[in-house]
Amino acid sequence: MREVHFEQTSVTSFSVYEFGTGDGPAVAITAGVHGDEQTAIHTAFLLRKALGEQTVLGRIKLIPICNPAAYRNRSRRSPFDGLDMNRSFPGSAQGSPTMQLANALWQETRDAQYIVDLHCCGVEGSTYTLAQYEEYPDLRELAEAIGIPVVIQSGGTSGQLFTESCKVGQKALIIELPGGQPGGMIDVEAAEQCCEALIGYLRYLGVLQGKTQPQEVTFYGKIVTMAAPHPGLFLPEATPGMRCKAGEYLGSFEGTPVTAPFDGVISTISKVRYCFAGERMAAVAPHKTE
Ligand SMILES: [Zn+2]
Repeated sequence: MREVHFEQTSVTSFSVYEFGTGDGPAVAITAGVHGDEQTAIHTAFLLRKALGEQTVLGRIKLIPICNPAAYRNRSRRSPFDGLDMNRSFPGSAQGSPTMQLANALWQETRDAQYIVDLHCCGVEGSTYTLAQYEEYPDLRELAEAIGIPVVIQSGGTSGQLFTESCKVGQKALIIELPGGQPGGMIDVEAAEQCCEALIGYLRYLGVLQGKTQPQEVTFYGKIVTMAAPHPGLFLPEATPGMRCKAGEYLGSFEGTPVTAPFDGVISTISKVRYCFAGERMAAVAPHKTE
């Protein structure tokens, strides 16, 4: 028997890049849990290159493509079993392919004190840190150290790598980046800025040499989706990542003004299109007043 290889891609293994062996903090940085979220994957590859030129005091595990089958299929979900890997943690060694994969990544990230999981929120999205900072107040300081200006409270859906990791005492959060859906688009500028932010975070944690200043960030509540009430044409005026005031004009739907429901930030806003009933026109996170 011979095996004929027609493509180098493996869809049943993932690569782990390890940096440093020191006694400092252990950090895991993951991307591509959703296979089509390529801005996240590109960020991880930029970081791999940057870390090769740095002295690492602690230990970093970098996993740029956590879900290689979904990556090769350019899809969010696994082509093997149709499961969403980021609803499957901690997974199961005896489960379906996605459950096995989730379990393998879960085991691989158990020794990390800090986890950053990189994701994308679509070409109509913007960059923000997503964290359960209300449940785990320590995460506030870490989000400030990352320094991405927008920090949004997570809804805390179970089965995600970061939510399950927080439950067992790790300090885990997500960075959402523009790009990914549809078709695995990469926002190169967002990836470069995120890579810089991650290097700053690793310095803050004492894993890399050098100092960082905590950045001015704004904390927002959970995202509220503004959906089309019936089929119609949505014409956006606002842009992703824009701050908004209550009542501010965001665009029009069938000639009727769509206005911001509260002071906040527009995390996502649809491009011009006919929306069907219930489809998202915009997603807005409310400003948190202490
Ligand atoms: Zn994702």
